[in-house]
Order: sequence, then structure tokens, then C-alpha cells
Amino acid sequence: MSEPGKLSLVQLPIREAGPGTVRIRVEACGVCHSDSGTVEGLFPIDWPRVPGHEVVGRIDALGSGVQGWAVGQRVGVGFLGGSCGYCEFCRNGDLVNCRNQGYTGIQQDGGYAEVMIAKASGLVSIPDDLSSVDAAPLLCAGLTTFSALRNAPAKAGDLVAVLGIGGLGHLGVQYARHMGFEVAAIARGANKAELAKKLGAHHYIDSAATDSAAALQALGGAKVILITASGGKTVAATFKALRPGGVSIVLGVGPEPIEASSMDLIFASRKLEGALTGNPATGDATLRFSALSGVSAMIETAPLEQAEAAYAKMMAGKARFRMVLVTKNGADQSAR
Ligand SMILES: [Zn+2]
Ligand SMILES: [Zn+2]
Repeated sequence: MSEPGKLSLVQLPIREAGPGTVRIRVEACGVCHSDSGTVEGLFPIDWPRVPGHEVVGRIDALGSGVQGWAVGQRVGVGFLGGSCGYCEFCRNGDLVNCRNQGYTGIQQDGGYAEVMIAKASGLVSIPDDLSSVDAAPLLCAGLTTFSALRNAPAKAGDLVAVLGIGGLGHLGVQYARHMGFEVAAIARGANKAELAKKLGAHHYIDSAATDSAAALQALGGAKVILITASGGKTVAATFKALRPGGVSIVLGVGPEPIEASSMDLIFASRKLEGALTGNPATGDATLRFSALSGVSAMIETAPLEQAEAAYAKMMAGKARFRMVLVTKNGADQSAR
């Protein structure tokens, strides 16, 4: 992209992998709603810029000083560009909040491309039994929901609610089920009930027809509510359905402020928090867990050349549920 609002196909020279980075032959790249921050120019961006932060490909060159990765190895790159290792947060082991990583597709070029350069410290390893197309959406949508649930205070058998059944939510329901929770899926309308059950939800709550907080309370109250829908009102409406000590974890980004009553916060020690994707080791775990448990995203693919149409379909909310761009190289690999 050379300017906001317009995706265009361009030829760029292939760059060498610099120190601490690897060069990747991209096979597949997911189209994520956060890509709109780049495409629409909401983030401060040095143009031109290549979007895309759900990238899977094979390493084709190692920059100097890179250890632990090999040419030919299949790897993934998510939203976090790779930690620096020396900032205060890295030194405390909080790689997600590294000050210097650079977000993929925002501060450094991403995966809507045949070739990309990525920092080795941000790479995720891809299990052999996951295809590149299947692995791609798990690097952002998968990692975000998996990491939030894995770090949440719920234990096996606890009630976990997933609000919203879209790109994030349809993965969140599957992970919650396979992690051993009692799972309630909440969405608007009766037409998602069947899908929710198929994904593993024990209960489906139609928020257009019922008071979802009362419905969760009738089930005993949720230990965790995973908010994958954007919209402050939806967060506020379910908040009081948390059990004492429970937490609502916000994953969906939206402009609307979230209102929570101080009474609801204080009188049951409820928590409201946000979670940003996850660190690379949790990325490895997301992919391993997905392969082991059979969790997968529902995917529509498109050739890289049709990125603009794929992006428009995702933005219009018409993708069921994740669009994945496949490069020529990726198509050749999967044809073998
Ligand atoms: Zn994303
Ligand atoms: Zn750092």
C-alpha cells in the first residue's frame, strides 16, 4: 500500500535478512479486522506499507546472529513483531508489552506478500500436521482467544461465557470447550444457536431475545466472560453476570466507551481487563493445542492477488469466519 484506503499489487525488490531477522517465503496470510488500522490509515504509518499479521511461510534465509531456527523450517508471524530483549518489560519477562517490537503490518511490512522479513524473536513454530492455511488465522484470532483463556482464573468445570460468535468467538468457544470449561455462547439472534452447539457450547444465549446477564446468572454466574464483540454496551450488559472474583476480558476493539457500575465492580470483586494477543511461546502452544484437539478456524481462501476483494468481504462482515490469502508458493506447496 502506498497510501491509506488503497490496496495495490506492486513488485518490490527482495531484501536481505538483516541481523536478528529471517526472510520468509510466505505461503498463507490471514485477513484480520485489525488490518483495517493499516489499510484505513488509523495508525501512524510510514508509507508504503504491506499489511498482514497472520503469516505462515518457510524460512529462506537467516540474518546474522539468528539461532534456533533453520532454513526450510515452516514458521508463523503474528501481530507482535518480536521482542527486543533489553527493555524493562522484556527484562521482566513480559514480552507482549515489549516497547520496541514493532507491530507486524504497521511498523514493519507484513504478510500480504510473497516474501517478508521478520524478527526471529517473534517467530512461532508450526506443527507438521497443520496446513499453512489452517495455521494462519490461529496466529492472531487463535492466539488472542487461547492466551486469554489460558491466563484466566477459570478451572475445569467453571462456567466460561464467550460473547460474540465471529472470527474470534468461533475459536474462543472451541478452545473453552476443549480446555474443560462449561461453555455458554452469547450472540444476537436464534440463527447462531446451531453453530454455537456445533462448536462445542453447552448453552446458547440469544442476547436479542433474552437478558443475557440474567441467563448467565441462572447458570450460576460466569467465572470468565470473553468479550469478542466490540461495543461498550454489550460489555456493560453482561458484566454483572460474573461470579464473585470473576473477570470480563475484552478482546474486541471498538470506539464505544465501556461503562461498568462501581457497585458491580466492588461488591463481588469483579474485574474488567483487556488482553493483547500473546507471547511467542503461547503462540507455539496455541498451534500445538489446536492440532491436538482439532480446533480449527472456519476459513475461506483467496489468492494473494485478490487481497483487496478479500479485505472488503471481511470488512463487510461477510466472511465465514476468516479469510486467508494464499500465495503462488503456498498453492504449490499444498498441491504436493
Ligand atoms: Zn489480528
Ligand atoms: Zn523489549
